[in-house]
Amino acid sequence: MASDVCSHVRVVVRVRPTTEREKTENCRSVVQVVDNHMLIFDPKEEDISCFGSQRVRNKNINKRANKDLKFVFDQVFGEESTQDDLFEGTTKAVLDGVMNGFNCTVFAYGATGAGKTHTMLGAQNDPGVMYRTMTELFKRMEDAKEEKEFTVAFSYFEVYNEQIRDLLANIGPLAVREDSSKGVVVQGLTLHKPKSAAHILEALDSGNRNRTQHPTDMNANSSRSHAVFQIYLRQQDKTASLNPNACVAKLSLIDLAGSERASATNAKAARLREGANINKSLLALGNVINALADPKNKKTHIPYRDSKLTRLLKDSLGGNCRTVMIANVSPSSKSYDDTHNTLKYANRAKEI
Ligand code: ADP
Ligand code: MG
Repeated sequence: MASDVCSHVRVVVRVRPTTEREKTENCRSVVQVVDNHMLIFDPKEEDISCFGSQRVRNKNINKRANKDLKFVFDQVFGEESTQDDLFEGTTKAVLDGVMNGFNCTVFAYGATGAGKTHTMLGAQNDPGVMYRTMTELFKRMEDAKEEKEFTVAFSYFEVYNEQIRDLLANIGPLAVREDSSKGVVVQGLTLHKPKSAAHILEALDSGNRNRTQHPTDMNANSSRSHAVFQIYLRQQDKTASLNPNACVAKLSLIDLAGSERASATNAKAARLREGANINKSLLALGNVINALADPKNKKTHIPYRDSKLTRLLKDSLGGNCRTVMIANVSPSSKSYDDTHNTLKYANRAKEI
């Protein structure tokens, strides 16, 4: 449906809860969730529920005026939102697209510590979008098994410093090429048959141990790589014997690298190059999504070739592909610039 094209990019924001440490450090909240669609960044003082209000008020006498910026998104998930709220409000609808044979992509974007991995992978006792997606996919295949024959496979790799590494086989770097019938192909990437949703969770967990991580000043577990989990679903009609209508769809669930600036982490030379490459992919991704979201831009060039990540996703963004960007932010004044930058990036991604 042509009229539906723009709604194919959904942009949502998730505000993570304040951590205990942020509470003890007396940070104020710089994000106020107004309703399901609107939030205010750096709201005017009287709107804030601040900790130790007397002190905060005194401290703010000489402070510059609050920005008080209103942002509107397809959906805003507040601090109390659950993993299930996120799944229900983002990826569940995307699965309709996958079941109909379209490639779909879900990103978690945000600075280190903003909650990307929590949203996508989650914790053992509170799994995130990746696991919930697989559970739902298995359910839907079961429901449709009388009419259709399904084959599922998955892969898990990272893009680090513009190089691809298979996280399940722990091999790389791997090359990307475009195949006229198969779309974008990562050469040598291992495909795995899931036995159950729980098996996938195990595979993700062991794959994560192969991720390239470097301690930075900001966060010892900071992820400097983009982690890409792809599910391939092949389906074929069982009933129509003359025309079996086989099709393959690919769902990409991506935990992007931290979007903070390299300078903010006081990085040394190697880390700086890495930071530049991370920003290159994130910038290219923003440009691609922006070009796709702009209806006037339809005939112009979409800059897929500008980074490894966007080259990889060439067959999974745009056209009939459904895309969801989950922008993760921290509410703490400690992350003021990161949160502001993420909201601007997300806002730009949805602009039409
Ligand atoms: P990122 O992957 O963006 O660097 P994480 O997902 O690792 O950030 O989150 C940073 C910390 O905050 C982790 O300890 C994580 O468990 C916690 N956290 C993030 N989001 C939430 C949430 N919605 N609810 C509870 N804890 C969260
Ligand atoms: Mg992470």
